[in-house]
Formats: sequence, structure tokens, C-alpha cells
Amino acid sequence: MPVTQLHLDLVPLSEWLPATWQGKVLIAGPCGAESEKQVVETARQLAAAKQIGLFRAGVWKPRTRPGAFEGFGEKALIWLQQAKQETGLPLTVEIANAAHVELALKYGVDVLWIGARTTVNPFSVQEIADALKGVDIPVMIKNPVHPDLSLWIGAIERVNRAGIKKLAAIHRGFHTGTQTIYRNAPLWEIPIELKSACPELPLICDPSHIGGRRDLIPDLAQRALDLQVDGLMIEVHPDPAVALSDAAQQFTPARYEELIRNLVIREAGSDNEVFGENLRSLRQVIDSIDAELIQALSRRLQVVAEIGRYKQEHGVTILQIDRWLEILRSRTNQGEALGIDREIMVELCQLLHKASIRKQTDVMTKQGD
Ligand code: PEP
Ligand code: MN
Repeated sequence: MPVTQLHLDLVPLSEWLPATWQGKVLIAGPCGAESEKQVVETARQLAAAKQIGLFRAGVWKPRTRPGAFEGFGEKALIWLQQAKQETGLPLTVEIANAAHVELALKYGVDVLWIGARTTVNPFSVQEIADALKGVDIPVMIKNPVHPDLSLWIGAIERVNRAGIKKLAAIHRGFHTGTQTIYRNAPLWEIPIELKSACPELPLICDPSHIGGRRDLIPDLAQRALDLQVDGLMIEVHPDPAVALSDAAQQFTPARYEELIRNLVIREAGSDNEVFGENLRSLRQVIDSIDAELIQALSRRLQVVAEIGRYKQEHGVTILQIDRWLEILRSRTNQGEALGIDREIMVELCQLLHKASIRKQTDVMTKQGD
């Protein structure tokens, strides 16, 4: 059940960014524009396959710490303009303030995007929205860095209220504070919730920034397609090893084409296929919830170990029957209030308790050695 209903005034994606590959939109290009040669060469190689709808490149790079590569700004916009003239590929760049908007418009950028670090800040988003008033240019809005759907929705609303009707959301994963194999955890349930709140809003996935590592990106791209996203934004660099930013996640043009060739589009053509598609989406939600449960369990066991060491230091026994009975009673009631069967809650508490006793026994035996 979507928590929010989002009402936007939109122009369909097909009217401003037509599908170029199997009914999907493909956006590709380097993380950052690094030189005229790098930009033009990448665009030429990508354009040759005739599957790309938009050529991307960062010209202002938001970096965590000063001193890292921060993009070439206006100079890079000239390189991009040249790439567009040579290849005919429309351009998209990240903008983070009103001055960026003005320069991007001056150099004929076709589509703007708001990055994850900007979406988190309503002041910045409003500044951009104000700069866009009266301008007819499409805008794509990445999810905020952390998993906050309201903030994402708020940014989309601000831009839409400024009169921008050609809008898309980009899912690029979330920083959750917990280490996973991904650079940014996908948390598929969040884009699914956004899509449920506003089914007409186009959704594009950026598996490059979710994965952070080349080897993880093909599966993420396939998962996104299985969720029926409208397109993919993927980072491509002629020589990723020497890239000034995001070297580990960029593909050469040849490897990128291979990745796209290997993706499977599952048509929602028959009842059975629709069923399969929905089932896959739901299972992705389950996978993500299970991953959260496992992380929570791991955190619980770390605290249990700490309690074990503390009890040991103070010569206190592992089992305190009153505490255990209180846990059993309160958790069973909490679960029941949320619609979980008492019997299931009792079994779950017993399992958790068993794991805790084992952990504390381990800790105490080790300390006693
Ligand atoms: C990018 O697309 O290069 C970028 C900086 O992305 P994000 O805002 O998702 O981190
Ligand atoms: Mn990048």
C-alpha cells in the first residue's frame, strides 16, 4: 500500500526522451568530462551503436572532500557541445545551483539532472526550481543519498511546481550506514513505493552508483529491468583505469555494449508474464527486507556479546529468568498488535534467546581462557 499519493503535472517520457533500445531509454557516458578527447571519443563510440538516447557527463562533480577532481565546469560544456555536434547525441549534465542551470542552458544541454547530494537539500532544490521557472527543459531527479522517500518526492514536487513537466526520477541507491557489498544499497522497495505513489512518473535506474563495482552492475541492471524501469543510466569511460572519478564502476564502450546485449527484456505480453513480473518485484522487496532483518540480527548479537562481557566482569550469570520472561511477554504482545501470530512470536523469541545464550556463553568461555 503506497503511503503517499503524488499528483504531478507530467508530459509523457516518449515525448521528450524516446526509447532507443527495446522500448527503454539508455543514458550513458563518463562519470566526469575530463578532456575534449575523452568526451568526444566516448560519445563517438557510444553513438556508433545507435542505442543511446542521451549522453551523460559530470562537469561539476560534488566531492566528499576538497582537493578531489571537481570537474572542469564551463570548459567541459564546450567539449560536450562539440561531442553533440559530431554525434548528434543529446546531452545531460548534473546541475546543483542556479549558476549551473544558467550555464547548462547557455551551452545547449538538453536534459538536466539533480544529483543525490543536492536532492537532500530543499534550499538547493528550490534555488534550482526558481532558476527553471519559465524554461522548457526536462529534469531528472536522483534519489537523496539516504533512504528518505519524502525528500525525494519533495524535490520532484518543487521542480514540477516550477512548471517543469518533463520529469523523471533516477534511482541510484542509498547510504544506510551499514556496510553491504554495494556502494549504495539498492533498497528496491523505495523506488517501488515512489512508482506506486505516481505510476506516470518515469523511473530510470543508475546501477553504476548502486554497485560501485563493475562486476555488480549487470545483475543490478537486469533487476531494474525486471522492475520495469523506463531506462538505465550507466557510466562509460574509454579507459576506466585512469578515470579521475568512479574508476571502479565505469565500463569501456565495448564492455558496455556487451552488458546491454546480455540484458533480457521480459515483455508484459501475456497474463502469465505479468504474473511473473509482479512476483519478481515482490520477491525483490522480500530480499531487501530479509537483508535488513539479517543486519538487525547481527547488530543485536553484537550488543548481546557486549552484555556477556559486562556480566562476566561483574560476576553475573548469563540467564536472568525475569528478563527472559519479560522479553517473551512484551515482544509477543508487540507482534500480536502488528498482526503476527502469538505462536510465531513465541518461536521467534525462543530462537533469538537461544542465539543470545550461545553468544554470551561463547564470550564468557573466551574470556575465561
Ligand atoms: C554521477 O552521476 O556522477 C553522480 C555524482 O551521481 P550521484 O548524485 O548519484 O552520486
Ligand atoms: Mn559517478
